[in-house]
Amino acid sequence: VRKNQETPYLLAYFVCSLIFFCSLDTKPFTVTGSIYYINDVFGPLMSFFFALVITKKFANELMTKAVVANFALFLIALLNLNNYVFLQLVFAAITFVIALWSIVTAFQKNQADKGLALFIAAAIGFVLIELNSISVNITRAEYFETQLYFLPVLFSAQLFVITLFIFTSQIINLKTEYKRLATKDSLTELENRNSAYNLIENQVALAARNHSPCALLMVDIDHFKAVNDIHGHIQGDIAIRLVADELKKCTRNYDVCCRFGGEEFLIFLPNTELNRAHEVAERLRMKVTDLSKEKVFGPLTVSIGLCSYVFDLDIDANISNADKALYQSKGAGRNTVSVIEAS
Ligand code: GH3
Ligand code: MG
Ligand code: MG
Repeated sequence: VRKNQETPYLLAYFVCSLIFFCSLDTKPFTVTGSIYYINDVFGPLMSFFFALVITKKFANELMTKAVVANFALFLIALLNLNNYVFLQLVFAAITFVIALWSIVTAFQKNQADKGLALFIAAAIGFVLIELNSISVNITRAEYFETQLYFLPVLFSAQLFVITLFIFTSQIINLKTEYKRLATKDSLTELENRNSAYNLIENQVALAARNHSPCALLMVDIDHFKAVNDIHGHIQGDIAIRLVADELKKCTRNYDVCCRFGGEEFLIFLPNTELNRAHEVAERLRMKVTDLSKEKVFGPLTVSIGLCSYVFDLDIDANISNADKALYQSKGAGRNTVSVIEAS
């Protein structure tokens, strides 16, 4: 369970806002010859804590560090008003780079929400510059008379980009989620049947052209009804998941691993000779036997049927071949691998 890490920063934000608004008409003070208004400190602090709230809520440690670094730079700029123009440029440049970087990484890694957080942090950087320029270039009264229109424009532009980010983020997340729901089995995260058929058909088309051998394995957990009856369905589900994990570990990532039915799995091995496939099946069978050593489910074993893929037959006919081999394994007393000469 995730803690609300942003809460203290949210509180700090409200405290700073309060001080900021209460100090709006107070007199300036002087530090090392430079004149400051209380707002000069608390306005930026407000933005700083707000940026932290955003990063704590949506982003990771790296981005929090970026915000802190940005703010530190701002403080240096604030305390060196004589060199302010140069530091302001450095500060703006870094902020700009962070903003660009955030946008690029957000779209590269499908993490628009993190990009959004960084963008807000960077945008706030620009506002900090703007706020601070009040006491540098013109008087406060002049600023509010001539420049005030600029902030709403800036804010609405930022709001627009932020909204874009939120929408993009949601669309990307939804797309990823729908794709997962449509192609993966929810219990094991293996391919579902529909997706496996598509993947196998694509690989078969390529393999047939290259005359590259492929193999098909049908895997079934032995006496699984007994596992459910003795240990309950929840433990049964865990057993299915553990076997699925072994399937993943025993195969390469371009092999197709599918949850075919309840406690039955289908594996398609492209570019694999029958004797190599037999080794894979044997390794899987032994790994599952090892699972029982953890003594959660009693003896847990699988029977496996294996055949080489016949390109002249359709996918269902090939699965029937693997099925026949599987029934041979069941007939032979289970916990074995059987191979059938493809017909
Ligand atoms: P065999 O060695 O002949 O394969 O025996 P078996 O008991 O494994 O075979 P059978 O097909 O009779 O039983 C399969 C059982 O798998 C029955 C069903 O309740 C259980 N099962 C199917 N899907 C799930 C699931 O998602 N979770 C759990 N816990 N059990 C499941
Ligand atoms: Mg079965
Ligand atoms: Mg079974």
